[in-house]
Amino acid sequence: MHLLFSSLLHPTRLIQPSADTYRHRGQRRALVEALRQRGIRDERVLGALAVVPRHLFFAPEFEAHAYQDKAFPIGEGQTISQPYTVAYQTELLRVQPGQRVLEVGTGSGYQCAVLLQLTPSVCSIELSSVLFARTRQRLLGQPELLATGAELYCGDGSLGLPQRAPFERILVTAGAPAPPPALLRQLTAGGQLVIPVGDASSQRMVRITRESEAGFVREEFEQFRFVPLKGQEGWG
Ligand code: SAH
Repeated sequence: MHLLFSSLLHPTRLIQPSADTYRHRGQRRALVEALRQRGIRDERVLGALAVVPRHLFFAPEFEAHAYQDKAFPIGEGQTISQPYTVAYQTELLRVQPGQRVLEVGTGSGYQCAVLLQLTPSVCSIELSSVLFARTRQRLLGQPELLATGAELYCGDGSLGLPQRAPFERILVTAGAPAPPPALLRQLTAGGQLVIPVGDASSQRMVRITRESEAGFVREEFEQFRFVPLKGQEGWG
């Protein structure tokens, strides 16, 4: 099933202030300061995390956890990534305004909303139909969280999104045994893939740059622990 929706609002008016209080904004500022202390440097990334109300991606009863720097269960055995991890991956991705981005693993939709602060063109694909439906409902209820051009899909993102390829940036938010060939094929020349690669217990963050049709350069960064990438070119 592939579903597409987009809002008509201008990207600069993504967030509806009424859904967000002074208290939330203060908590976000403190969180962003903590991320800066931990080494996140890119001001556009820090700015995006300062703007997106992470508490709106939690069930109301768990809202108090939203501005702690930790991952949190979102159901179906999955988690919303830790803010540090979101900032780290987003910084490595080096998204420029106007670039076409694919996110694999929509989950709660939070990382997608952060990416939308950096470029209006984001496709995100989620394997779990339960999470897809829930996140789609949440974002439909908060259209201001989406920019024109945001597209949500349900399917196996280990195969990428051939019907919308190529992408200048691809971000995988689940741990893979190896970079899926389909994702490499769907990068533009000069395009970059950021993906955690390893076994079930820990993964190294990897950035792959497509320098030419067949030329790929691989860089390795810190260790993380993600939920597994399932599907045909994931863990199955
Ligand atoms: N980016 C998310 C965090 C997601 S956790 C957020 O901001 O909340 C990883 C997600 O990847 C889970 O929701 C899981 O269901 C999804 N996933 C795992 N394998 C997948 C696959 N092959 N294709 C698409 N999504 C996948």
